[in-house]
Amino acid sequence: MKVKTIGVLTSGGDAPGMNAAVRAVVRAALSKGLQVKGIIRGYNGLIDDKVVDLDIRSVADIIHRGGTMLYTARSPRFREEEGLQTAMETCRRHGIDGIVCIGGDGTFRGARDLSLHGIPCVGVPGTIDNDIASTEYSIGFDTAVNTCMELVDRLRDTAQSHDRCTVVEVMGRGAGYLALHSGVACGATAIVLPEIKLDVQRDVIEKIQNAQRTGKQHFIVVVAEGVGGVDKLAEQIQTITGIDTRATVLGHVQRGGTPSVRDRVTASRMGYEAVQLLSQGIGNRVVAEKDGKIVDYDIYDALNMEKPFDEKLYKIANAINN
Ligand code: ATP
Repeated sequence: MKVKTIGVLTSGGDAPGMNAAVRAVVRAALSKGLQVKGIIRGYNGLIDDKVVDLDIRSVADIIHRGGTMLYTARSPRFREEEGLQTAMETCRRHGIDGIVCIGGDGTFRGARDLSLHGIPCVGVPGTIDNDIASTEYSIGFDTAVNTCMELVDRLRDTAQSHDRCTVVEVMGRGAGYLALHSGVACGATAIVLPEIKLDVQRDVIEKIQNAQRTGKQHFIVVVAEGVGGVDKLAEQIQTITGIDTRATVLGHVQRGGTPSVRDRVTASRMGYEAVQLLSQGIGNRVVAEKDGKIVDYDIYDALNMEKPFDEKLYKIANAINN
């Protein structure tokens, strides 16, 4: 199939580096002589016909910006047959021969549906949670985990000054990558993850008390959002140990900010590869990072992959964060 025009969209939660990916897609496509259309607010843009022409300068001055210039959305309508059909019509009307869909697993499911209906799509992993099974790395994670680290470091300063325990909730509903990595990076005494069934006594209290016995006087407990309950946990810690304990939920501040080198470079590499595939008419694929290389998989296979929990890193944290 001769491809002339490709679309690009961002969908699901925004992640720093999505802009760098959009830029890479646009510039790589233009350099191949393709036309590029920006689809606004994810799959909603296809249903509501919010499609704009993009040229080289449209993506100027965005490589260093968080968020996404194309906006993003969750689109329940797209999951209905009627929404999908409307999206297909919009593609036909604009002559869109293929789409790069930047987002998480949900976004990839949408890309699969469009591909099966005749619009080749390539998924690019972008989510701060790093919970996409098919890739070892997702655009946005490095920036977000560095933000968590910086914020927890600040909480540590005040916890240290007051001999307090600080319980901090970081993002990650189904997967605890942000919690595990920021917990290791910040030397958290306890790290509470959705992957490990919580036993408060064993996983938190005993760790704090053991550290206390060696002279430690301030403590950080990092909790993944998927486990939640930080206020209750702080209360329990204070009641059982007698240590003044405060809870903080970091929230959306973790999503924003200027993307790191890792995220800009990964976004550039992945965006470029997505265009190489689509320009040959190859769709129903996702790009991914494996052993430092950019590879691609069938979307169906990608969605059926499982990401193993990093037991080794959790073990390391338990061995050294005391
Ligand atoms: P994040 O990891 O940030 O949550 P995501 O891409 O997984 O990103 P979702 O909200 O799950 O975020 O999905 C984004 C959009 O993709 C949905 O709003 C919907 O339009 C589409 N989508 C999700 N699941 C499906 C599905 N099963 N079939 C078709 N489209 C889907």
